[in-house]
Amino acid sequence: MIQIVEKELCTGCAACSQKCPKKCISMVPDKEGFLYPVVEKSSCINCGMCEKVCPVKKIHAVQKNELPNSYLVYDKDTQRRIDSAAGGAFTGLAYYFIRKLNGVVFGAAYAEDFSVYHTYAETEDELHKFQKSKYVQSDIKDCYEKVKDFLDAGRYVLFSGTACQVYGLKSYLGKEYVKLYCVDLICYGVPSPKVFSKYLEYMSSKYGAIKNVIVRDKQLKRNRYQMGYGIEFNSGYKYFSKHSVDPMARIFYGKIASRPVCYECPYKTLWRVSDLTVGDCWYGSEFIPGFTDKYGITLVICQSDKGSRLLLECADLVKYEVPTEDIAKVNGGMLYSSCEKPKKREEFFDKLDKYDFSELADYFYPVQKESKKSIIRSFLSDSGLLPGFINHLYRKKKVEKMIRSRNIPEEAKGLTEL
Ligand SMILES: Cc1cc2nc3c(=O)[nH]c(=O)nc-3n(C[C@H](O)[C@H](O)[C@H](O)COP(=O)(O)OP(=O)(O)OC[C@H]3O[C@@H](n4cnc5c(N)ncnc54)[C@H](O)[C@@H]3O)c2cc1C
Ligand code: SF4
Ligand code: SF4
Ligand code: SF4
Repeated sequence: MIQIVEKELCTGCAACSQKCPKKCISMVPDKEGFLYPVVEKSSCINCGMCEKVCPVKKIHAVQKNELPNSYLVYDKDTQRRIDSAAGGAFTGLAYYFIRKLNGVVFGAAYAEDFSVYHTYAETEDELHKFQKSKYVQSDIKDCYEKVKDFLDAGRYVLFSGTACQVYGLKSYLGKEYVKLYCVDLICYGVPSPKVFSKYLEYMSSKYGAIKNVIVRDKQLKRNRYQMGYGIEFNSGYKYFSKHSVDPMARIFYGKIASRPVCYECPYKTLWRVSDLTVGDCWYGSEFIPGFTDKYGITLVICQSDKGSRLLLECADLVKYEVPTEDIAKVNGGMLYSSCEKPKKREEFFDKLDKYDFSELADYFYPVQKESKKSIIRSFLSDSGLLPGFINHLYRKKKVEKMIRSRNIPEEAKGLTEL
């Protein structure tokens, strides 16, 4: 069988399978549940297109003199912002894109069975399906081919996905299109679809048929929102659990269920081939004097002039420019470095089929008892008893420490080009 790229380097971007002229490459789940290309040898004509298009084989770094510009961004429409993963920057852009440019928007959505796949929207009413992060690898399906079809028909296209999916698309297209805008996410990895589906099976065995999954559900308290996993059931019951308690969230944040390549991701650079990079910002108030972050903020990094213009033109979004190096450090490092592979990862996947899902989470990531200090801080903050300026001073010190103590490797500042 032809080997397109070593398995541990494959991101599952599916550029090879979409490019194959004989359509003889299928994306098939392995035992961990991640999709990998499998070639139907009898139909293969050895044209070499699959190897040529594989973005993993093309990466080389180029340095630029300056870092890209960064902004803290949120949607002026408060409900849209609450319904989004962070500040709703992507959603604001997507509305603008459809309204002003009659464009087509691509992103990750839930299927009926709550598996996650890439699809597109042509109307504002459809855009809600892309909102919020789906903490699982999205099946890209044949979206690169569809993007090309729309571009060839003269349409504007806004494509969003993980950096490896954007690189996959760019490599598949093989040339620049003026009307294509790409937005990539900062991500520390994508968990296995099999693990996510086991979680949903477990939840459904406990509470019945699932109506809606809301990862990064925002439960508003007086002064801030609490983020967690939310699931609505057909029975009318609404489950909500903090990230520190929900079994899937503990596994996701433990980083044990990520795709192997994510532990040595080739795309962790500040400059990228997309037009805009979006990620979380947990300390916006410490960068913008007098600002209170109640509903979430998106960090947006402008990777191209075109991306920058789109962001600045979008009147639905509020933007504050911030120093890129500082905000990248405060973001937590996933922009410029990969997370470490947990030592027990193999054991985790061995036990996946044998253990009940909550036992699995408890075994690998038992719920941690919250420290007294943190309980008191949360209580004072939620009840409004903690004076704002004390909270602000505490957070400001934390931010200053992050900026002082973290370093961005020189090579991660460079542009990774195809
Ligand atoms: C698996 C994963 C891990 C992440 N890890 C980090 C991190 O470590 N640090 C960080 O700063 N930010 C991380 N993010 C990004 C962050 O969660 C937000 O998506 C980002 O801040 C944009 O927020 P928003 O409110 O502007 O997005 P919204 O307006 O809510 O739009 C959501 C966007 O995310 C896309 N999306 C959702 N799920 C997926 C998926 N599974 N695959 C591809 N695209 C998807 C949608 O297509 C849409 O473009 C991660 C996102 C994902 C999906
Ligand atoms: S060599 Fe050509 S025909 Fe064979 S799998 Fe690769 S792209 Fe398809
Ligand atoms: S093109 Fe993408 S899916 Fe195919 S081998 Fe390369 S990384 Fe894997
Ligand atoms: S960490 Fe890298 S390889 Fe993994 S999903 Fe994100 S961009 Fe792709």
